[in-house]
Formats: sequence, C-alpha cells, structure tokens
Amino acid sequence: MALCFFSQAVVCRPLLSSSPAVKVVVFKAKAKTAAAAVAPPPHQLQVSRSSSGHRQKKQTRIGASGFISLYSSRRLSLAAANKEQILPRGETWSVHKFGGTCVGNWERIQNVAKIIVEDPSPHKVAVVSAMSKVTDMMYDLLNKAQSRDDSYVAALEMIRQKHHETAIALLDDDDDHHDLSNFLSVLESDIQNLQAMLRAIYIAGHATETFEDWVAGHGELWSAQMLASAVRKRGLPCVWMDAREVLVVHPTNKQQVDPDYQASGERLDKWYEKHPSDTIIVTGFIASTPENIPTTLKRDGSDFSAAIMGALFLAKKVTIWTDVDGVYSADPRKVSEAVVLKTLSYQEAWEMSYFGANVLHPRTTMPVMRYNIPITIRNVFNVGAPGTVIGRSSLPDLAEEAEPVPYNSTDSLVKGFATIDNIALVNVEGTGMVGVPGTASEIFEAVKGVGANVVMISQASSEHSVCFAVPEKEADTVYRSLMSKFRKELEAGRLSNVEVVKNCSILAAVGQRMASTPGVSATLFTALAKANINVRAIAQGCSEYNITVVVRQEDSIRALKAVHSRFYLSKTPLAVGLVGPGLIGKTLLDQLKDQVATLKNEFNIDLRVMGIMDSKTMCLDQLGLDLSKWRKLLAEKGEAADSAKFTAHVKDNHFIPNTVIIDCTASAKVADNYFQWLSKGIHIITPNKRANSGPFGEYVRLRALQRRSYTHYFYEATVGAGLPIISTLRGLLETGDRIQKIEGIFSGTLSYIFNNFDGSKSFSQIVTEAKAAGFTEPDPRDDLSGMDVARKVIILAREAGLHLELDEIPIQSLVPKPLRELTTAEEFLDKLPEYDQEMEAQQADADAAGQVLCYVGVVDVLANEGRVELQRYPKSHAFAQLSGSDNIIGFTTRRYLKQPLIVRGPGAGAEVTAAGVFSDLLRLASYLGAPS
Ligand code: ADP
Ligand code: ASP
Ligand code: MG
Repeated sequence: MALCFFSQAVVCRPLLSSSPAVKVVVFKAKAKTAAAAVAPPPHQLQVSRSSSGHRQKKQTRIGASGFISLYSSRRLSLAAANKEQILPRGETWSVHKFGGTCVGNWERIQNVAKIIVEDPSPHKVAVVSAMSKVTDMMYDLLNKAQSRDDSYVAALEMIRQKHHETAIALLDDDDDHHDLSNFLSVLESDIQNLQAMLRAIYIAGHATETFEDWVAGHGELWSAQMLASAVRKRGLPCVWMDAREVLVVHPTNKQQVDPDYQASGERLDKWYEKHPSDTIIVTGFIASTPENIPTTLKRDGSDFSAAIMGALFLAKKVTIWTDVDGVYSADPRKVSEAVVLKTLSYQEAWEMSYFGANVLHPRTTMPVMRYNIPITIRNVFNVGAPGTVIGRSSLPDLAEEAEPVPYNSTDSLVKGFATIDNIALVNVEGTGMVGVPGTASEIFEAVKGVGANVVMISQASSEHSVCFAVPEKEADTVYRSLMSKFRKELEAGRLSNVEVVKNCSILAAVGQRMASTPGVSATLFTALAKANINVRAIAQGCSEYNITVVVRQEDSIRALKAVHSRFYLSKTPLAVGLVGPGLIGKTLLDQLKDQVATLKNEFNIDLRVMGIMDSKTMCLDQLGLDLSKWRKLLAEKGEAADSAKFTAHVKDNHFIPNTVIIDCTASAKVADNYFQWLSKGIHIITPNKRANSGPFGEYVRLRALQRRSYTHYFYEATVGAGLPIISTLRGLLETGDRIQKIEGIFSGTLSYIFNNFDGSKSFSQIVTEAKAAGFTEPDPRDDLSGMDVARKVIILAREAGLHLELDEIPIQSLVPKPLRELTTAEEFLDKLPEYDQEMEAQQADADAAGQVLCYVGVVDVLANEGRVELQRYPKSHAFAQLSGSDNIIGFTTRRYLKQPLIVRGPGAGAEVTAAGVFSDLLRLASYLGAPS
C-alpha cells in the first residue's frame, strides 16, 4: 500500500484579482511501502529554490541585534528586480495569536476573523492554535493506537466530524464554495493519512516522537486553513502558512526546542517570495527540524510560535488572544479575587509562566525580548478590556495609568502568584557533602542522566543537604539513579539519606519590585504561617524576582489564597462554621448578618458562614450561607448532622485560607473535637466552658497544640460574657504583673438573685421570678449549684497559671441537699420555700452587720486554690453596689494591690455573650492579617 502522508495541497488563493491563485504542493508522498510510510519523510518543500536574494529594508529598533543582518544586503540585486516579493519586515507588522478556546467553534472562528480584519495594521500575522481540545484528542488517538485500543478509529472519526461540521457552518454560504470544498478534500485526505499512520502505530504498538508530532500538529493545520477562509470571506485577502515550511527548530533533550532564527528567517524570505500577502494566517505549535522532519514546540507552544514570528517579522507588537482579560495576579480559576495586571516585565511574565501560570508559555518572552517587542494578553470574548502589556519594564512608565493604590505598602511588591502541582521534593543529606566540591554537580548529573527536569533547587549554606523539586512522575527514576550513583557514599555513611517527598506543590511569588525590598519574604511566610501552612522548602533566586516555596499539595490552593489576599487584596477572608445555633448561636448569626457588609467594606474582613450545625441537622454552602435565611435553610434544606462532614466542608472549601469553628453549645461532646480541629489548622472560638474546665491534662494538651500549630483558640465569652476578663488577665500577665487574687460575681443569675434579696421578698420568690424573667437556666438548680461559677473559676485559675482540677474546688451549693435529687425544675421550685427561713436568717444577720450577701468565685493564686462560696461584703464594697444581673470581677495584683482592678458590667444574656464571641472573631481576623 502506498501511503501519501504528505500529499496535502495547500491552496493559497489571494483574492486580489491581480494575484493569481498559487497552488503549491508542500509535502509530497515519498513512501512506497508501509514500513517506509511509518517514517515520515523529510519535507519535500516544493517552493522553488530561488537563490534570488533581496535586500531587507533594514528596520532597526533599540536593542535590536543579531539576526537582523541575516536579512540584509547580500540579496540586494534581485530585490530591486522583484520588489513585490520582498518581505517588508518591521513595525508595519502586527502579530496575533489565537488560543484554542478563541477558535473553539465556527462562531468563534468568525469572531477571530473579524478581529483580524478590523486590525488597522498594514501587515498582519495571525498564529492560530488547534480548536480547543483538539490537540488533547490527537494525543488521545496516539495513546489509544499505541496501547492497541482500536477505539482510536472512532475517536478519529469524531475529530473528522468536528472539523467537517465547523467548516460547513463557517463556509457553506460562500458564493462559489471553493474554499469549503478545498478544505473538505484536504480534511478527508489528512484523515486518511492519519488513519494509515495510526494503523501502523497500532500494529507496532509504538510511536516515535516524530510520528507523534506529525499526528498532533493536524489540529493547527485545520484551524489555520479554516480561519484563512473565514478572513477571506470577510473580504480581506490572505494566505495561510504551514509553519513547518518556515520555522526551523533544533530539538533538545529537555522536552524543548530551540528556534533556529537564521534558518527560519531565510525560509521565511523564500516562503514570502512565493506567497506575498499582507495578511498571513500561520499554524501555531508546529515546526520542522533542520532536516525537515516535522516537530512541535511542545504543549501549549503556539504562544512561543507567535513570539518567534514576532521576532522573524520584527513586528511592532504581538497580541496573544485568550479567554481571560489578561494576566491575573493569580490563576483566576483558583483565586476568584485575582485582579488583572496592567503591565508585567518580560522577566516577571517568564517567572509567572515558568511557575505555572499557563496563560503564557514560559518561552514566549525570549524571542521578542531582543527587539523589545511588547506582548499584550487580551480576551477574545471581551475585546473592550485593555489586557496586560508585557514589556521591558513592569514599572509605571509602561502603564497608561498608574496601578491602583494598594492599602498597604507591601501590596504591589508582588506582582503575581502561581502554583505547580504534582511535584516531588528530593532531599540528599549527609555530612560528607560539607566542603566537598562537586557533590552538587554529581547529584545533578545523576538527575540529568535520567532526563528529569529540576524545577527548583535549595541548598542550606551548611551544605549538609541539597534539596530539589522534580515533577512527581520523575521522582522514582531520580531516586533510583541517586541511590545507584551514591551507593558507596551511602554505605560509607558520607551520605546519610536520599529522601523523596511526594505530593508537593510549588508556590511562587513573582515581582520585580521585590528585589532589594526588605520584608517581602517575612510577609509571605507570615501569611503562610497564619493559614497554618507548613513550608517544606524555600528558594529565592538572587535576582530576587521570585520567591519559591514548596508546600503539601493539599495546602496548595489555600496557600495561594492566603498569600494572594495578604499581598494583593485588602480583604481577609475567613470561613466560619457555627455549631449550636441555640440562644447564643442564633443571636451571633443575627449580629453577623447585620455586620457582614460593613466588615467587608469598611474593615476588609470577608466572613463567610460555610456551615451551621445543631445536634440533629446541618446546612452547608460552598460560598457562604445567606444569613437572612439560615433558619429556613436549616429547617427545609438541612441534612443529618455529621461532624466529620461538617468539619471537612468548612475547612476544605479550597476557597478561603483560614477557617474558624465557633462552638456555641455547652456540650462536652462538641468540645471533644477541639483537639482534632486545632490539629487540622482550624481556629476555634467558643463561649463553651467545657474544654477549659475539663481534665487538666487535656487542657494542657490543647493549649500546647494551639501554640504549636499556629492556630488560635479564643474563649473570652466563657467568663463574664462580653466583658474583657480573660483579655484583661492576659494583658496583666503579659506585661509582667503578678496576680494575687481574682474574686468576683461571675454568675449573672446569682447576681440578680442577691441584688434583689434585701428582705422584702423571700429567696424562693426571687428565684421563681428570675426563672420567669429568663435569667436562669431552664432548671435554676444549674445556677444555684455553683457548678457554672466553679467552671469559670477553673478557667481563670488555669489562665493565671494554677494547676487545678474542677473537683479540687470547694463549692458551696445553694440547692438544699434534699432537693438535689428531684427530677423537675417545677418540683424544685415547689419545695424551695421550705428552706427560705435559713437563707433569710443569713440575710438578716449580714444586714444587721452592715453587710450584703454575694455569691462569689475566688481564685487565690498565693494559696494556690479556688473556691465558690456565699460571702458577706460591707455595704461600701464594690461588690455591694451591683444591680440587675451585672458581673463584677476584681483583680488584686502586685500593681493593683490596694485597689483591685475592677471589671464590671452585664455579664450574662444572649446579646452580650454573642457580642463577646463576635469580638473574638474580629480579633482572630486581625491576627490573621486584617488591617487594624
Ligand atoms: P489558550 O488556549 O488561549 O492558550 P490557555 O488555557 O493556555 O489558553 O491559558 C489561558 C488560561 O490560563 C486561562 O483560562 C486561565 O484559566 C489560566 N491561567 C492560569 N494562571 C493565570 C494567570 N495568572 N492569569 C491569567 N490566566 C491564568
Ligand atoms: N494546540 C497545542 C496544544 O494544545 C498548542 C497550543 O494550543 O498552544 O498544546
Ligand atoms: Mg496556551
């Protein structure tokens, strides 16, 4: 069977009536046998080998050097004779590149044609990618054929259909149908050739790189031809170029190719002699080796093609059209708050793209840099947006307007952030490396030997270890190669370890202004620490344009968000999960609802309640629940409560770097989760006293973990509701004061009862009234037992450094012993009057002595003890002046010895307790970087 792999006819048919259609057979079949057919022959370029030179109208620009001379004087004589065929390089050319999504369907191709036609430049080049997904489909064909999966046949048919249908929709209304029928016959013949090639690959079970490149490049061949027809249809004469005829590249062994500008320039001249046109549509991605073997610029290489074309034509500018408004400060798919950058320097663009911003192929900047040709990234679906200009400098001289003023000085220092996933860290360790020249080179020799790509290197100056990052898929081979290369050193103990840590991601911060500016890395690392993200390795090049860190892959998006919001955005986003929407919880949610907008607009804190859970039900939301509807959502759309799912949801939303769970229950069971939450990096805020007043060992473990894990645990509202009691105590301790005693009326209920117990009403009557007024727990015995006060005493005692357990606190219960076993609150209140006499006697006694009764909690630091008791105080004492349900707490310290420091105010009730929790939340936001 004779196979014609390269038999397509390229019809270049300028519509200018003066230019006759030129039919050029670009590739000609050579293979005679199947075996020969499998090896694509070199290009048989049928362009006439005119040695006719022509003189380049020499266009120089600042910084232009090198290959300009290639196109100069040696062709002088024939140029004069054949002027219209001389390629007029220089600033009259404008190069465009349209990515796959830009030409994803026939309407989009039409839109691209419109953009080309409307570009007022006298000369235009449009480099075009394959229709979106087509290159993936081509590689899929190859994989299928190589693994002997005959579904490649059907897959190829789908590709054929896709292009067939697109061409018909695009060109069918053409008057003479010439372009359409031409394209369809090219398509059919290409498909036949592909079928033959894939069949051969299927039989061999293998494809060489050349075969792969030849197959993969068809998407560009088809899209370029369709686009050229669409442009012609709009009345603009144009030709299309199979870049393999012009673009010569040298393959390297690094999954890269190096353009040969000289050879390409010469071929371009020759090509132009044959196809002079003011508008040229060029296939992206594909090229030839110097031996005319088809090759590609590797995945996403069309951007690179466009930049090379920009350099070959010495164009005025290169515009890369894609599906986003420009280069964003971070991948907009991962960071929704990312902003479009107005300008980037070549260097910054390179660093961004090298480290994963796939809006631009990393090598794109290289060809244009030499001639200072600016690249603009623009959105084909939003032509009104100005895009991002990439040029010599990213500093304001390039921007038309200045950058928006950031809210703090570090903001614009980092231009953008990018991440690369699926990275493995390789760490080579050992004392034998210290001071021994050549170890690093041996390590990298071994890595090079297996063709692995080192993405980042870091070596501590102690030289004790060398650490580098490679793509995860290459890690095992690298490991084996190092183990075999350093077998002797490992055996002798000169090297102690070669370790591979998989499942890592690289996060890079890029910005020219980072150079020589102190504090950028400190801010970066603080932002990561505050999001509880562990940094595994660090590298900063001495250009200081880039700081690269390696984090665990599961932290990658959170890390990106944390650093992005710290540097680039004014908002501190915080994901909130609320457990226990009871009296305090629901009041807090209402307070949040009223404040969320103000917090966002005025205080730059973006609070999102991602989930609410009560004992039976929970409701979750990906972006944050609508707080005006949470009751309805929980009642109607709630699912069964599941603590693990709830935690995973609020934590792993991949959307906000910091998470806090607010526990508004009084449940020990919920408090049992704190350890697990903190170890996951979740901050905790709670008015629940259980954890801090539980077993001492557990408390210590929790606090230690909290310190270690860089998470925050705030519980101001456990004592005195919204009153600043714990923070006052901390302030005293942190400033070096010594606490001697903390004494106070900690129970709003008991405060209310004793403030009213002046002999005019019986004790039981006041308790009954207090319950009716909602000042007590449902069962007033919970207040009268003193247990709640004892828990507060324990919390303060531990905060002050005492090692006390709850059962070490003597508690004077106000519930008469015989009434402790009664089942209901009602029974208790019925029987309580029987004990009024005893309480009244105590009250009368105190009154006669000029005293009042107060139910107090005491932390006696000097005596290392705590107690809860009914005490008498002189009527002149601060405690005797209380009213309503206020709390009062006195701190006797070395500084406040004669007069204790007093904190007094409403210390119970849902509003003030919720406000206490709320203020902890704001404190957390400020700790996490919100401006204060
Ligand atoms: P094309 O097919 O046009 O070449 P790509 O998919 O290669 O387009 O690149 C554009 C995509 O790059 C965008 O859709 C965007 O999701 C992604 N991207 C990643 N990082 C960035 C960034 N920092 N700025 C803009 N886009 C980015
Ligand atoms: N079509 C090629 C690819 O998808 C090249 C490109 O679009 O940049 O890799
Ligand atoms: Mg791309």
